[in-house]
Amino acid sequence: MTATRSVLASQATDYPRWFQDVIAKAELADNGPVRGTMVVRPYGYGIWELLQEAMNRRIKATGAQNAYFPLLIPESYLQREAEHVEGFSPELAVVTHAGGKQLEEPAVIRPTSETVVGEYLSKWIQSYRDLPLLLNQWANVVRWELRPRLFLRTTEFLWQEGHTAHATSEDARAFATKILYDVYRDVMVNVLAIPVVTGRKTRRERFAGAINTMTLEAMTGDGKALQMGTSHELGQNFARAFDISYLSSAGSRELAWTTSWGSTTRMVGGLIMVHGDDAGLRVPPAVAPTQVVVLAVKEEAIAAARGIADELSAAGLRVTVDDRTDQPFGRRAVNWELKGVPIRIELGPRDLAADVATVVRRLRDSDKTAVARADLTRTVVAAIEADQDHLLAEATARQAARITAVRTVDEAIEAAASGWATLPYDAVGEQGEDRLAESAVTVRCLQRPDGTLPLDDHEPDLVAYVARSY
Ligand code: AMP
Repeated sequence: MTATRSVLASQATDYPRWFQDVIAKAELADNGPVRGTMVVRPYGYGIWELLQEAMNRRIKATGAQNAYFPLLIPESYLQREAEHVEGFSPELAVVTHAGGKQLEEPAVIRPTSETVVGEYLSKWIQSYRDLPLLLNQWANVVRWELRPRLFLRTTEFLWQEGHTAHATSEDARAFATKILYDVYRDVMVNVLAIPVVTGRKTRRERFAGAINTMTLEAMTGDGKALQMGTSHELGQNFARAFDISYLSSAGSRELAWTTSWGSTTRMVGGLIMVHGDDAGLRVPPAVAPTQVVVLAVKEEAIAAARGIADELSAAGLRVTVDDRTDQPFGRRAVNWELKGVPIRIELGPRDLAADVATVVRRLRDSDKTAVARADLTRTVVAAIEADQDHLLAEATARQAARITAVRTVDEAIEAAASGWATLPYDAVGEQGEDRLAESAVTVRCLQRPDGTLPLDDHEPDLVAYVARSY
């Protein structure tokens, strides 16, 4: 453990450095050659793939189907929805030349796909029988970010973006809310072990072109907020701009109501920031590419290590054997700790002689126990399950301890220096949001006193969650 500390900045002294160090040392990602871009290394991509599978399964369970739209969008499409173009213009990358000459109409690299999807929804939707139409795509998008940071805010990122059209505003709202809770919150809490606060964005934090943005906010290790995903009600704004209309059962032509929702590689950044510690990453078992690493301490333990790995794999676990006995054992152990592999099984000559294996639980302060060989698989399977729950319980307790209820904007700014604040939204207002912004603090979301979603920002007694954010 002490050896590990020396290769990483500590969280308490330099949190941003710690974050960068973990990404580099755990071999998650590298900076790409163009500023703000990211190369995702196999270990980081392995986490993303498991997360993506969990998300994809839940998206499909809502009835949405996957499709694929082009990377390049005619520039004119973006102009059609006034707020949308205004919001995204500063972040657009535009292709003006291709095939050795200037293009007649420039094409933007998609920053999000509401416009191009809108064009095709208009074509595919004729009657009320075509609704709801529920689409999702897995893709990359580009937003020219001014202050990029690996995983959290990259210029190009991977995501899923859902786009749906409905006959009524109620149906659209119900679907966007279902995505928020049954898909996003479920993945974040039960897969990533990340507790999230869900709520409605204030008008100024809304998605460009939306009538309502719902968000999930996680608390990072340094007490800031990270927006982990968003689900938008787009009202009839895009339906109007792209003529997404349908013939109702009564025979009248009506505009559809649309939604969109996205979650990205930022979630991997959230995982690092919520669960990581001074020894490195800690990966929730549900998304750990390697859940168990079996380390042969010396060459004579390699065969036994492989036997254990086979048994654990047969029990459904993702297992890696570390048989690099030509390298110092201590360094290898520290490396797996850095990578945050939930369980490490150490197998040395003494373990073999005693017919035991040493089980080290990374998610439990690297608690070490000798387990009888015959009990090993059962013990490890149980530990994997228990430690997934433990990680969530720990993060939930830490989050609750760092949220302070206050009454005024000044108190909220003070509380936001080390955590989040809640305060009556009536005490904030437009002016209050300006004052918060001067201190780099924002209203992360609004909730009703019972924690449910407000239907608009003007409901009485709303609670504002306020924090600094990434
Ligand atoms: P939006 O389409 O703007 O609602 O974005 C959907 C989600 O993408 C947000 O909730 C963020 O979690 C995430 N996100 C936004 N910008 C970036 C970025 N530059 N890099 C990674 N994730 C991002």
